[in-house]
Amino acid sequence: MENCLFCKIVNGEIPSQIVYEDDKILAFKDIQPAAPVHILVIPKKHIAGADAIEADDAELIGYLWTKIRKIAEDAGVCQDGFRVINNCGENGGQTVRHLHFHILGGLKLDEKLI
Ligand code: 5GP
Ligand code: ZN
Repeated sequence: MENCLFCKIVNGEIPSQIVYEDDKILAFKDIQPAAPVHILVIPKKHIAGADAIEADDAELIGYLWTKIRKIAEDAGVCQDGFRVINNCGENGGQTVRHLHFHILGGLKLDEKLI
């Protein structure tokens, strides 16, 4: 999708520190890490957010979640635990309108909203 920052990262137009890639998904380090491990996991297909996932995307999103486990393992945070966050839309604080899941780990995350 034109002018989408994360589509540009998928296309290689904007460089990123990739930690996992295959034909369906990409995982790269967040440019402003909020934790020692802060990785963004995205589908390569442009989906604007959690509010734009269609029934046809079920397989892709399920697949992405199986890779969240692998990416967390490779980052060394699986044993101690980690948090996965999705911000959606205006009230959810989403700043990039391409579906992404934050993996945060490497420290005890104390600020629990829920
Ligand atoms: P959101 O606020 O939409 O949930 O998350 C967007 C995330 O993308 C933020 O944590 C921000 O630091 C990250 N980000 C924004 N621009 C870039 C970029 O150009 N490269 C990388 N690697 N991360 C980015
Ligand atoms: Zn996009």
